[in-house]
Amino acid sequence: MPDSNFAERSEEQVSGAKVIAQALKTQDVEYIFGIVGIPVTEIAIAAQQLGIKYIGMRNEQAACYAASAIGYLTGRPGVCLVVSGPGLIHALGGMANANMNCWPLLMIGGSSERNQETMGAFQEFPQVEACRLYTKFSARPSSIEAIPFVIEKAVRTSIYGRPGACYVDIPADFVNLQVNVNSLKYTECCMSPPISMAETSAVRMAASVIRNAKQPLLIIGKGAAYAHAEENIKKLVEQYKLPFLPTPMGKGVVPDNHPNCVGAARSRALQFADVIVLFGARLNWILHFGLPPRYQPDVKFIQVDICAEELGNNVKPTVTLLGDISAVSKQLLEELDKTSWEYPPESKWWKTLREKMKSNEAASKELASKKSLPMNYYTVFYHVQEQLPRDCFVVSEGANTMDIGRTVLQNYLPRHRLDAGTFGTMGVGLGFAIAAAMVAKDRHPGQRVICVEGDSAFGFSGMEVETICRYNLPIILLVVNNNGIYQGFDMDAWKETLKFQDPTAVVPPMCLLPNSHYEQIMTAFGGKGYFVETPEELQKSLRQSLADTSKPSLINIMIEPQATRKAQMESSFVTRLECSGMIWARYNLSLLGSNDSPASAS
Ligand code: ADP
Ligand code: MG
Repeated sequence: MPDSNFAERSEEQVSGAKVIAQALKTQDVEYIFGIVGIPVTEIAIAAQQLGIKYIGMRNEQAACYAASAIGYLTGRPGVCLVVSGPGLIHALGGMANANMNCWPLLMIGGSSERNQETMGAFQEFPQVEACRLYTKFSARPSSIEAIPFVIEKAVRTSIYGRPGACYVDIPADFVNLQVNVNSLKYTECCMSPPISMAETSAVRMAASVIRNAKQPLLIIGKGAAYAHAEENIKKLVEQYKLPFLPTPMGKGVVPDNHPNCVGAARSRALQFADVIVLFGARLNWILHFGLPPRYQPDVKFIQVDICAEELGNNVKPTVTLLGDISAVSKQLLEELDKTSWEYPPESKWWKTLREKMKSNEAASKELASKKSLPMNYYTVFYHVQEQLPRDCFVVSEGANTMDIGRTVLQNYLPRHRLDAGTFGTMGVGLGFAIAAAMVAKDRHPGQRVICVEGDSAFGFSGMEVETICRYNLPIILLVVNNNGIYQGFDMDAWKETLKFQDPTAVVPPMCLLPNSHYEQIMTAFGGKGYFVETPEELQKSLRQSLADTSKPSLINIMIEPQATRKAQMESSFVTRLECSGMIWARYNLSLLGSNDSPASAS
């Protein structure tokens, strides 16, 4: 008689879908965002059965944004699960965004059956090749038995070295194929990335350059936030009395209201610093490439980064510190500690920075205090800031909405701001907010997610409001509505325009439908919606939304359709704004009836 144990062991079968789910579980994957369909539905179900949270989204792009934000917020990749062909292609934008931001992400795409390859199979597409441009690693396991190995490698690759996106391709025929459990071996959970430290001679040199600086500046990037370097960087700032400037997502590593934060004097700080320490921030467009006229031609950069290939990009650094920011900032602290030194708090540099901060803050305050209606951006953000809980996540996207919002809305905690990022991607907001709400629920109970969207930005992923309502995530969406992209028309100008010809010929490309009631998208799914036109209505609706933790809400805030930034124009959107101004002038002229305009034809 055969041994019954032996019989059981040799005959127990398991599906490919279950193997994928178990491999993800073994790698500590907590969240999957996606849209199911042929051939991945079974994978999502199997994952749920193992206790992995599955969040079904309405568009793969938004699902991918959400999964990538999980990577940034938790340090382990979120998974994005999509169907073959178009499903995967919709998600490419999210993969590109994750990779550009250096955020870990694991994309799993179903693909057509192997035995129909090149025959015109349903949704057939060269997915592994397509993903190569957007990832650090893109592969298809050679068999079901190879799945755990490839998934471990993808998870590890996404978080080791410079973090980024990884892709694993799952042919449809793998999903329901049964294999013998004895043929499977689950690769152990990959360890957290090893900590690398900078060369001691370089640390010594960096400390000496900092001590000899006349006008020093620390720039804190999202790499520092990702590295959890907040404690050491705060010590550097405070112990040595150094001015610091956060990048958009570096905000909160040291609180924005810290007296050494020179965010309100950004241009001046960049322009006149003689020594700049870059903690996890690339010298790309966000930092004006590190070049004159935005910087001194002989400014000394001390570059701290985990990615060797990043060192020396655009500018030759004086010192390079290759390593993990948390570890390297500790090394710097220890080295600077060897002598008693601090940057003199009464220096001329501090004085200039403080003066500039004061005058810029006064200018914003003045704009914020304007009582005229419709409201301007500053008035809106001033009132939002007044009520914003200190520990909330701020998600933001849009042009002026994001740029001005960033200067007024404060962050007090690291990794609590998510925005359009390195790639300037619009449409990320709702996916990011959903991810932040999951992280808040599981790791920071009680923290709220406030998502500040331009009306145009909101439109890219607006249907995710249904997702928010389905999972009952108490997100507060603020739609700062100026009826357009950069600028829009008010109702009168709109009606005037429509009197003439075909709207496709006369409606300025930046215009969206005026006075759109975006809040009704929220009420359609059972959330709370508010349409507000005055500061009082804004205050009241925000107070109610914050008090109600049982429901999501959307506050549609009408602002002056042609409101812009205050004069100093530090933004990277300046060129585009100027450009839209030109188009604007042309349309205004055409409405007045200049000879060669479409309007005058009527
Ligand atoms: P920002 O948009 O805030 O300017 P960037 O995305 O340009 O930031 O730069 C972030 C940098 O941080 C990248 O060059 C990345 O390689 C680096 N980085 C990410 N994680 C770490 C880490 N743990 N230690 C050091 N550098 C890191
Ligand atoms: Mg707008």
